[in-house]
Amino acid sequence: MAQLPPFEHTSIDAIPSITAGIRASFLSHKTRPLEFRIQQLRKLYWGLKDNSELIAEACKKDIGKSSFEAYLTEISWTMNDCIFMSKNVTKWAQDEKPEDIALTNKFFGPRIRKDPMGTVLVIGAYNFPVQLSVGPVIGAIAAGCTAVLKPSEQAPHTAAVLQKVFAESLDPSCYTVIQGGVPETTALLDQKWDKIFYTGSANVGTIIAKKAAETLTPVTLELGGRNPAIVTKQADPRLAARRLLWAKTLNAGQVCLSQNFTLVDKDIVQDFIRELKTALKEFYPQGVKKSPDYGRIVNQRQFQRLKKMVDDSNGKIVIGGEMDESELFIEPTVVLVDSTEDSMLKDESFGPLLPILPVTDLDEAIKIANEVHDTPLGVYPFGSKEEVAKVISQTRSGGASMNDGFFHASIPTMPFGGVGTSGTGAYRGKSSFETFTHRRSITTTPAWIEGMLDIRYPPYTLAKQNK
Ligand code: NAD
Repeated sequence: MAQLPPFEHTSIDAIPSITAGIRASFLSHKTRPLEFRIQQLRKLYWGLKDNSELIAEACKKDIGKSSFEAYLTEISWTMNDCIFMSKNVTKWAQDEKPEDIALTNKFFGPRIRKDPMGTVLVIGAYNFPVQLSVGPVIGAIAAGCTAVLKPSEQAPHTAAVLQKVFAESLDPSCYTVIQGGVPETTALLDQKWDKIFYTGSANVGTIIAKKAAETLTPVTLELGGRNPAIVTKQADPRLAARRLLWAKTLNAGQVCLSQNFTLVDKDIVQDFIRELKTALKEFYPQGVKKSPDYGRIVNQRQFQRLKKMVDDSNGKIVIGGEMDESELFIEPTVVLVDSTEDSMLKDESFGPLLPILPVTDLDEAIKIANEVHDTPLGVYPFGSKEEVAKVISQTRSGGASMNDGFFHASIPTMPFGGVGTSGTGAYRGKSSFETFTHRRSITTTPAWIEGMLDIRYPPYTLAKQNK
C-alpha cells in the first residue's frame, strides 16, 4: 500500500497568483476545444482509478468509511461520472436551435451557444469528500471551464489524495487544488470567479452567497436541511424500518439527504420500533461497533455536537445510545420524542440519530413536516400509493423518494439540488454540464436583409406604422 500524501495548507499569500494563473489559462481559450475537455476527463478517470486504494484508505482514515461504501459512493461514482460526461459532452455542447420562432426570424440564424462560464471555484464538504468535490469539477471540465477545488479540511487525508490525483492527471495550468479551512477559503472568496459552487451547511452557504453578491458572481449552493420521513398506518413497518435505517447508517448518518426525523402514525409506532431493532441486528449481526461496514463521526467537534443533541433531548432512547469518544463511535440511536421543539428536531443532526415523533394521521404529519422546514433537501413518505402521492403534492423539497430513504439521489444522471434554504441550482449528469455553462443566444444579420429591416429605422413615418 502506497503511503498517504501529507495534508498541507496552501499559503494564503500564494492564493492570488495561483488563481490568476488558472484564470489566465481560461482566457487563453485552452479549455474550449471538446478534445481537450474529453482528454482531461479521461485522465481524471485514470487518476481516480490508479489511486483508488489510496482514496479508500484516506476515506477510512477521515470518516471510518467502509471500503465498500468508498468504492460505491466515491470512487466508482466519480469514475462513472467521468465516463458519462466524456461520452455525452460533444452532444450537449452543440448549438441549440430555439423553439417556436417566427419564419422571418429564421433568416437571422438564431442559435444558443453553450459557452463555458469561465474560472470557477468548487468548495467541498467532508462527508463524501471525493464525490462532492470531484463531482462538480467534472461538470466544470466538461463545460470548458478552468477550476480551483477547495476540498474540506475536515477530511484532510482525502483532500491530500485529491491534490495528488489532480496534480498527476490534470493540466495543472487549468485545474488545481487549494487546501485549507476558513482563512484559505476566505482568501479564495476575495478572488475573481465566474461561478462559485459550494457544498456544505446553510450557515456557511449564507457567507458564500453574501460574498458572491458583492461582485454579482453566480453561485450554486448545495446545502443541508431537516428532512422528514413519514410512515403512515398503511405503510409496511418492516420495509420502512429497513430502508430508513439504511439511510441513517450509510456514512454513519453523515448524509445531507438522510431523514432528520420520522413522523410515524401513533398506531404503528411500536411495530416500527420493533422492526428497526430487527433490521439493526440483520445489518450488523456482530454488533454495530465491531462491524467493518459502519463508519465513524468525522471529528471531536461533530461528535460533541451530536452527543449534546441527544443529551439535551427530552425524548426516550428506545434503541442504541452507545457513544465512544475515543473511537468517535455513535451507535444508531432511535429516540421517541413528543415535540417538534425537542433538540433532536431543532437542528439538522447529520449523524446516526433517528428521532421518531408519533402523529395522529397523515394530515398532521404533512402539517408538521411543512412547519419544521418548508423546503428541505428530501422528503421520504412511506404508505399507500395515494398517501405518498399526497405527501409529494403537499410539500416542497429538493428531491423525494417515495417508500425509500434518498434513493432518488442514487441515480447519478438525475439533477441533484435543493430548493429554498436547502440550496440553489443543481448538478449531476447533464445538469453538471449546464451548471457551468452559459446559454449564449446568437443571431447573424445577413446583408441582403437590409431592405426588410428598413422598417425599424427612424423616422417612424405613418407609412411604416401602417405596414
Ligand atoms: P461546512 O459548511 O462546515 O464546510 C463546507 C466547506 O465550507 C468546507 O470546505 C469548509 O472549509 C468551508 N467553510 C467552513 N466555514 C467557512 C467560512 N466561515 N467561510 C468560508 N468557508 C468556510 O459543512 P460540512 O461540515 O463540511 O458539511 C456538513 C453540512 O453540509 C451539513 O449541513 C450538510 O447537510 C451539508 N451538506 C450538503 C450537501 C448537499 O449536497 N446538499 C452534501 C453534503 C453536506
